[in-house]
Amino acid sequence: MADFKIWMNGRLVPQEQAVLPVNSAAVFYATNVFEGLRAYWNERDGEMYGFRLADHLTRLRESMKMMRFTVPYSDDDLFEAVRTVLSGNEVREDVHMHLVAYVAAPGLDATTPTGLYINPRKRPRVMEGNGLKCCVSSWTRTSDNAIPIRLKSGSNYQNGRLATLQARADGYDQPIFLNRHGQVAEGSGATFFMVRKGRIVTPTTSSDILESITRTTLIEYVCPEVLGMDVVERSIDRTELYVAEEAFFCGSGYEVTPILSIDRFPLGKGEVGPVTKRISSAYLDLVRGVDRKHPEWRTPTYKKVTL
Ligand code: PMP
Repeated sequence: MADFKIWMNGRLVPQEQAVLPVNSAAVFYATNVFEGLRAYWNERDGEMYGFRLADHLTRLRESMKMMRFTVPYSDDDLFEAVRTVLSGNEVREDVHMHLVAYVAAPGLDATTPTGLYINPRKRPRVMEGNGLKCCVSSWTRTSDNAIPIRLKSGSNYQNGRLATLQARADGYDQPIFLNRHGQVAEGSGATFFMVRKGRIVTPTTSSDILESITRTTLIEYVCPEVLGMDVVERSIDRTELYVAEEAFFCGSGYEVTPILSIDRFPLGKGEVGPVTKRISSAYLDLVRGVDRKHPEWRTPTYKKVTL
């Protein structure tokens, strides 16, 4: 199948027509804010479900506010745009989408004019069956009063790029960032969870992390209601990583991706742990609508609904 068409400023256009001016702040300084989300095909319902679309749009608004730029679209417009890009491409398989609001004018301080595009693409699971070999990065997660990670701007991801390439050069799959306080923050593009002394633990939202929607989903529903285990939100020290029983990354893109070792210390038996396995399958059932709870989190593409 050819590449999906991109929704750009109100129109569905082929990939090669979705272009930005080279002198725009978007191209030169990566002045954009974006969301990454997945939509899942449910064969039984004959429906594509965008997962927690309303929450992604809220976070996009928050990022735009912090960056002092606006787009001429309401959340309802964007909701319709997502439906249009999926139904217009006749998507009937799992896809990942980027919603990107960008500044098309030149200049470091440019705030307008701004535009928006939505780019659906195939994106396989990060890991099938197995898990990641991680290291603690020697790069520090950027701090909230420098380059805030709460704000989902493309430019922030250079921090993750440095750490990821370093990790790979050193023979690992992915880095884990510590923050300015020397405590665990997150992965380059995913939230960190561990199981320690039988409890599920994740860093607080004041740890220089993105306020992850998957994190919230695990804390609000999957862990307490499916597994019967509450999540503890607290600071995590580096050495705790080495003696954790299990660990995983989560995110819209990463879904639930197991971590098998950190700095070459195997976690537990060095294989995917039982809690991680249960969380992963419960999460995938929820997002696809096999688990029918929280229907408000699954936005249908083909059936007419309002946000
Ligand atoms: N942290 C970072 C830096 C990310 O880019 C992502 C992916 N958006 C996450 C965490 C996970 O966030 P979410 O669950 O909202 O996708």
